[in-house]
Amino acid sequence: MGVKIEIAIYSETGKPMSNLKANEQELNGKNFTCPYCSKGLIFRKSGKRKLENRTIDISPYFYLEKGIEHGPGCRYNTFGQIEIIARQPLALTDFMEKKKENQMAIRLQVVKKAMAEPPEDGEGGTADPKGKGDAQNKKYKNSGSMAPYLSRMKDIMVLRSRMEENKDIKKYLKLEYGKKTISWDKFYFGPEYKGFLELSKYFRNKQAPKHPVCVEGIIKEYKKVQKKRGGYFYSFLLEKPFIEDTDTEGYHHIPSVSLNIDAEHERLVNYMKDNYQKHVKQVVAYGDPYAEVKPSEAQKIKYHNISIWINRTAQVHLFNDVFTQLLGE
Ligand SMILES: [Zn+2]
Repeated sequence: MGVKIEIAIYSETGKPMSNLKANEQELNGKNFTCPYCSKGLIFRKSGKRKLENRTIDISPYFYLEKGIEHGPGCRYNTFGQIEIIARQPLALTDFMEKKKENQMAIRLQVVKKAMAEPPEDGEGGTADPKGKGDAQNKKYKNSGSMAPYLSRMKDIMVLRSRMEENKDIKKYLKLEYGKKTISWDKFYFGPEYKGFLELSKYFRNKQAPKHPVCVEGIIKEYKKVQKKRGGYFYSFLLEKPFIEDTDTEGYHHIPSVSLNIDAEHERLVNYMKDNYQKHVKQVVAYGDPYAEVKPSEAQKIKYHNISIWINRTAQVHLFNDVFTQLLGE
């Protein structure tokens, strides 16, 4: 499968063609090749995803046949892209390590440690989440030494988001947390609802995992919420999926995912709001999740509330790969 590709060479004409054009001309089943390595590609027409109140289209794309990989020098070669991330701009060897010929590993405990470091000045507001004042904040001015790890984590998350499934990346990149190997299915969740229900279950275990996770979805709306102890935070809510299945007691299990940002991180809040206004609402983000289940007896629904607090732009990636008119209402 590999990454989703937007432009391929149409074999009948020998010319490049975009995913949107191929969709318009309904060229499913036709022959396409990769513009960089000439490997054969398959076209997948635009699909549908049912949300709580409406159905949206999913962007069409070209992809590789199962079991085939792009050529070694191709820009779509998965392991090649992982190696590029590992190299630039400085090799963070305690974070990424080559395991074997076509496999690297990342250490999520390094990401966890980097997330615990207060954000740098100018990287999303003040460092002190409790707002204790300037004197307290000054000592953070030269911190942020671990920021490159977070950017690297973001690169990996973005690479995964360009693929269809976790299994497209897992054989090339192992995830480690301390001595444990973490499965990609326990690390990258969404946009399908089953992944989020899995996340909710996983993090409500008696011994909840400590490693950070990624979530993928579409931002539906955001609101400013008053905190109990004063101050505000912004909650960016993801679209809820439409769910038909019920459990044996007749409950619908609906994940409700939100990304929360303290209002103090003004720059990050503005970045999110600006993108939202421009209809750039697809999102992937990583952080530590909190999950709880809230039943609504009247509606026979069990809401799985999942929230992730983010405080820097390195934890979030916004994009729009669907037709503008679909997200543009
Ligand atoms: Zn290729």
